[in-house]
Amino acid sequence: MRYKRLFLAVFAASIAAVPLASNAQATFRQLPVTNADYVKPFPPVKILNNLYYVGTYDLAVYLIPTREGSILINTGINDSVPAIRKNIEALGFKFSDIKLLLATHGHWDHVAGMAEIKRITGASMVMHEDDAELLETGGGYDFRFPQGRGSIYEPVKVDRRLKDGDKVRLGEVELTAHHHPGHTKGATSFTYTTQEAGRSYNVLIDNMGTINPGVYVSFMPAFAQISQAYATTLQKQKQMKPDVWVSSHAGHFNLHTKYKPGDAYDPNRFVDPAGYVQKIELYEKLYREQLDKDRKAN
Ligand SMILES: [Zn+2]
Ligand SMILES: [Zn+2]
Repeated sequence: MRYKRLFLAVFAASIAAVPLASNAQATFRQLPVTNADYVKPFPPVKILNNLYYVGTYDLAVYLIPTREGSILINTGINDSVPAIRKNIEALGFKFSDIKLLLATHGHWDHVAGMAEIKRITGASMVMHEDDAELLETGGGYDFRFPQGRGSIYEPVKVDRRLKDGDKVRLGEVELTAHHHPGHTKGATSFTYTTQEAGRSYNVLIDNMGTINPGVYVSFMPAFAQISQAYATTLQKQKQMKPDVWVSSHAGHFNLHTKYKPGDAYDPNRFVDPAGYVQKIELYEKLYREQLDKDRKAN
């Protein structure tokens, strides 16, 4: 009996530790994929002018090609890299042209492919300073797990740490980083403007203030200011005035109701300022409901 338990424990450990390619340095414990939409392939989508969706059905990954190389925002989970590469190449861009890696936050479903893409392309990892430790520990440092949880994706070195309002430039593109903490300590949205057919568009790549299971928005021991962080972020997000907005998950910005594979490119397809306000108000309502629940429970 005891022997059997020991055997099962060893077996479980052996399937959980994923050995990496020979040139990689670390091992990590890959989380099981419980949402099939995370890995379901989806063809690339031209959102607007120089903004392309190259992720899976639900995990949003954005490519912004410039005359000096490309910016990639987010990567999906550990195994998403071939799907991202396929989408980038299907659009006619080169995967090796990726020069800057950015992320909306440091959870595994958005950054687990960073280390591999960095190794292949030599791109620089740029991240808000408050999520840098999350990336460099492969998700091991997380306020939800103050006791530590070990790496759940390959750790990636952060080359540049952002603060609120910092600019990220490549070629003709200049993004502004907006620190939107709550979902994680260093969650970040990005804005820029782009012109098409004589019109200027304000573009927002937003990290929505969703709440993960097990999080008390009233107080977390390893994130004492969490309540204020959510409140301030929602306030700031309400004041933003995007023409076109997208987010970390396809479901957050209603990709699949706005676009079906095969639909013709239309620069106005994702213009949806009213939908943005509705979404932020929804997440504000969910935050207030959770706050009430937390307060009643304590
Ligand atoms: Zn997350
Ligand atoms: Zn997520």
